[in-house]
Amino acid sequence: MSDAVQELHELFTSTTGHAPDGVWSAPGRVNLIGEHTDYNEGFVLPFAIDRRTRAAVGLRDDGVIRVTSTLDGTSVDWPLRELDAAQNAGEIVGWSAYPLGVAWALGERGAALATLPGVDIMIDSTVPVGAGLSSSAAIESSVALALNELWNLGLSRPVLAQVGQLAENAVVGAPTGIMDQSASLLGETDSAVFLDCRTLDATVVPLGLTLAGLTILVIDTRVAHSHATGGYAERRASCEAGAAALGRSSLRDVSASDLDRALEILDDVTFRRVRHVVTENQRVLDTVRILSEKGPNAIGALLDASHVSMRDDFEISVPELDLAVETARAHGAIGARMTGGGFGGAAIALVPHARVAEVESAVKVAFAGHGFTEPVTFTVTPSQGAERNSTKING
Ligand code: ADP
Ligand code: MG
Repeated sequence: MSDAVQELHELFTSTTGHAPDGVWSAPGRVNLIGEHTDYNEGFVLPFAIDRRTRAAVGLRDDGVIRVTSTLDGTSVDWPLRELDAAQNAGEIVGWSAYPLGVAWALGERGAALATLPGVDIMIDSTVPVGAGLSSSAAIESSVALALNELWNLGLSRPVLAQVGQLAENAVVGAPTGIMDQSASLLGETDSAVFLDCRTLDATVVPLGLTLAGLTILVIDTRVAHSHATGGYAERRASCEAGAAALGRSSLRDVSASDLDRALEILDDVTFRRVRHVVTENQRVLDTVRILSEKGPNAIGALLDASHVSMRDDFEISVPELDLAVETARAHGAIGARMTGGGFGGAAIALVPHARVAEVESAVKVAFAGHGFTEPVTFTVTPSQGAERNSTKING
């Protein structure tokens, strides 16, 4: 057992008075390429990272689910048989909506909540919250994997990803796709998850970063981003309007050869929104192909083109993200792009190990020169998805 797992095991035991039945963990994620394609039924290529949320879980005999987080030390509990009514009344709120939402969503997928034993769940995370690394999916996936096992539900990982998404959509109230949960549940070491957001087919794609001596550097601009603000909804609406005007059910069914006609019939803004999604889908497919044919050193131009498309066509970048990308490229990155929903958040750069420190300091100097808040930089390693880390230890 790692130190972190052992410590959580002990904290759970001293807090609840009984040992957990196990500790499960699930990672946050970074999206390598494929932005704003998920809700257009397109392609994404995220990977699980080496920052994890751990959930120590122990069965109770009173039908109560109690969740505690080390983040702020607070606990929330509900009788399992009342979860559905609580959800309908909008009473599951705050951070507990993530783990309790998962329990509720498992009920929607057939778990007989009213007859199941209760559980104590203690959550501890090294995924930074709200930094675009999906601390939310890390909670959902760790809790979903744990409850699936302890309640003997027998659900597959792809179904557990849907459970996490349902929790986030219906209980938290965030209209997100299934990318984050898929990466968190299906990711593997030094690999990405190629996800078709229409069929939900997921394939593990080896990245080969270790062999190539490459590192992924995250540059968090610390510009606050929020899906709740108008930009995200507005982009979604433009995509729907563009697809409808072209007579297609979604932009997944619009290809590069349709863009000439799109240019004729769409207004300029809608056309550029459509062009971003259509070309971004193609870039994801190209990235997957080039990774297998030539390896990660050959994908830099695709990452760069993705950024340009988001900056100029989808218009979701901000000056800080553009500066981070340009500076990283000028100091040795083989490719760089903003990642996540946009309007702030982080950029990623694919950098040879030997040049990571140079890129980090160059970006900080450039931000200072522009009077921007100092960015936070750190590397991420494509890592194993959700897993069980310990079983019950008595005593
Ligand atoms: P992101 O997923 O990008 O980190 P979200 O806004 O989707 O950002 O999810 C962050 C929310 O998830 C937090 O506001 C909190 O409610 C919940 N959360 C994440 N990690 C924890 C944690 N360790 N303990 C409690 N709540 C957490
Ligand atoms: Mg999230």
